Amino acid sequence: MALTDLNTLRPLLEKHGFSFSKGLGQNFLINAVVPRKIAENAKGNVLEIGPGAGCLTYELASRAEKVVAVEVDGRLLSVLSESLAEFSNVSVLHADILKTDLFSLFDGDFSVYANLPYYITTPVVMYLLESGAPIREITVMVQKEVADRFTAEPGDSDYGAVTASIGYYAKTEKLFSVSSGNFLPRPKVDSAVIRLTKISPPVSVRSRETLFRVIKSAFAMRRKTLVNNLKQEFYLSKDEGEAILEKLGFEKTVRGERLSLADYAKIADEIEKRKECEPA
Ligand code: SAM
Repeated sequence: MALTDLNTLRPLLEKHGFSFSKGLGQNFLINAVVPRKIAENAKGNVLEIGPGAGCLTYELASRAEKVVAVEVDGRLLSVLSESLAEFSNVSVLHADILKTDLFSLFDGDFSVYANLPYYITTPVVMYLLESGAPIREITVMVQKEVADRFTAEPGDSDYGAVTASIGYYAKTEKLFSVSSGNFLPRPKVDSAVIRLTKISPPVSVRSRETLFRVIKSAFAMRRKTLVNNLKQEFYLSKDEGEAILEKLGFEKTVRGERLSLADYAKIADEIEKRKECEPA
């Protein structure tokens, strides 16, 4: 079924009484090249988030062993059973991905593919990474600006807490851009496909929770120096905050956007060490 062809897609959606919901981030692909390119390397077990009418699912099912597609919009279930009728290796789960137990989907590891609904891109990506589920890699289409943020380096204007946090779990790469004209309805922004390949954490820290608190607080107030942000989060005096940075060889006035994950790990460990030295 040519699911990206408007002459097929529109009548199919109409037949099932479907109309697009902006709130659910529904922008379906209408250029056959794009889902084919996203699914190019799919193999083994695949989780798809938000199959929509099934154009990417179709390409994934043609290549992978088993596909589980999680779709929150119940109105699409009858569409999907028609569009994917020829496949016996696909199951569609009517659920919200953020409430789905990722350990229950497959025996063994899996990869994730999606043209992600833009309203929950970062929560979904963090949910996947933080779950500890055996995910090999995540290939997803996101808003172009989000792709820039996820793949930024320290010092780039797009570098932020989410960039550093993702770096703890995965290596990121931008694969290709997709302009807004490739979707129905046409969104206001362009998109890009990125791949996150899971890695073992590149830093080891005394407390993972403290590391993520340091990262988050470093970007809490972008115009403030790191010391001022840390002071607030960890109830440090200015002198204590500056002493930590000086001991580690950072300037007292350094800002969060200049520091790498390894730098944050050193700061987090120093804060932990001080906690351990405090009288009970
Ligand atoms: N994969 C299709 C395509 O590329 O044409 C549709 C992509 S569309 C951008 C996003 C899809 O995610 C929609 O089908 C939407 O209903 C679904 N969705 C939105 N929120 C979701 C959630 N929390 N869990 C699962 N699916 C969701």
